[in-house]
Amino acid sequence: MFNFKLNKILFFCLMFLSINLHAENQSQSGAEMSFDFKKQTDAFWKKNLKPEVYGICRMKGTEPSFSGKYDKFYEEGTYYCACCGGDHPLFSSTTKFDSGTGWPSFWAPFDDKSVELHEESFFKRIFGPRIEVVCARCNAHLGHVFDDGPKEHTGKRYCMNSLALSFTPKGEVIPINTIIPSK
Ligand SMILES: [Zn+2]
Repeated sequence: MFNFKLNKILFFCLMFLSINLHAENQSQSGAEMSFDFKKQTDAFWKKNLKPEVYGICRMKGTEPSFSGKYDKFYEEGTYYCACCGGDHPLFSSTTKFDSGTGWPSFWAPFDDKSVELHEESFFKRIFGPRIEVVCARCNAHLGHVFDDGPKEHTGKRYCMNSLALSFTPKGEVIPINTIIPSK
């Protein structure tokens, strides 16, 4: 009898624990999903980014050609956003090619949720069409896209700044997003 009661109590304790753990996991992923990177202030980015990444991603800078670590870099893997925490895929190594420009170049983004394209009207008027490429999740400036990419693929050249990218080799675990503030 006593054993039966003890078992029952244990059973309910375990049930309660597992429900609580489940709820906690759900609220964590809910917090991540509801965190709006596009609504963060300039102060948030200044606090969370290295100055050189801030200069490219938030101030629309351009790193000098042939200076970036991913220019002559052809390991297999995925390039994530260096600005919004490193778990938002932007490009795959399978679409990377050597454009000879000195900047890492791709003929397509990772998927249709990776990047957004913005027309730069000022440059369009003076130097011809120039399309800015930004991270679709946090609006970080990544680089530009041009129409002189490999014709056997898309014909596009996504000309990126290495400082806006964070590479994870194929088969390795995606880094945990550490930029989202904990409650
Ligand atoms: Zn981003």
